[in-house]
Amino acid sequence: MNMPVPVFSTVDEVQGFCLSQQKAGKTLGLVPTMGALHKGHLSLVTLCQQHCDVTLASVYVNPSQFGPNEDFDNYPRNFEQDVALLESVGVHGIFAPTNEVMYPHGFSCKVQPPKIAGSLEGELRPNHFQGVTTVVAKLLNATRADVAVFGQKDYQQLVVIRQMVADLNMATRVIAAPTARQSDGLALSSRNRYLDADQRERALSLSRALKQTKSAVEAGNIDARELAVELMQNLIDGGVDSADYAVIADAATLEILEVVDRPAVALVAAFVGSTRLIDNLLLSE
Ligand code: AMP
Repeated sequence: MNMPVPVFSTVDEVQGFCLSQQKAGKTLGLVPTMGALHKGHLSLVTLCQQHCDVTLASVYVNPSQFGPNEDFDNYPRNFEQDVALLESVGVHGIFAPTNEVMYPHGFSCKVQPPKIAGSLEGELRPNHFQGVTTVVAKLLNATRADVAVFGQKDYQQLVVIRQMVADLNMATRVIAAPTARQSDGLALSSRNRYLDADQRERALSLSRALKQTKSAVEAGNIDARELAVELMQNLIDGGVDSADYAVIADAATLEILEVVDRPAVALVAAFVGSTRLIDNLLLSE
């Protein structure tokens, strides 16, 4: 039997828990999630546990990072199962606030995201990263976490958060976790549950196309423009219904590259049916 894990629903409760742990000399780690947990999320918890004494997960579907035509209302929610999964990997606490707790009447501050948020996801999803930076700043301030873990699966988000933490002198250390994949390469995502069998098969074209790009670079092709064109073509040929972008970018700044002459990352976003999937692969690991 796993020990029942405390669930905090107000900022006072979570702050009280975190302060008491920190007063007792424990380091605290935070794993922010939107719930509908899968093994990718749990791998973040495991990584977090390696870097701190006490691990807290947050489960909150943040409305301010969804656009008006996105899937906020239909986003998968399964809180009881999330709690059971988090218990099974030994988190010490779960912060699960309501919208009223996070955005009470009169709330009006927004964290302006860094420049790096203006391209790719930020260009296609206006206000998305402002929603992310605002909620992550609130979570880091509420918990005063020593470390926080974010997945490379959301590569641009990771870069944006790193920059926010550096620019605003936040005391939390950001740790990146590698992308967890199914054995055939599909990146785990809460949105994969929208896919039927045919779409699940076609969704593999994202990870396959990325791998082809990495192989091409390893074989000596460093023409990033040509690689990006091929990446897009492989995505389409692999069966996605439409692609938002396929780019080769500087791994640190996300500047679009012409030549792969420094650490680089290939990033893609595509629709399979009405499900929008993103994936990426570092090209120089
Ligand atoms: P989400 O619940 O989708 O907001 O994700 C919460 C955290 O889990 C974010 O830091 C994501 O980047 C991370 N994450 C989501 N999917 C994966 C995955 N397949 N592998 C590693 N991290 C992931």
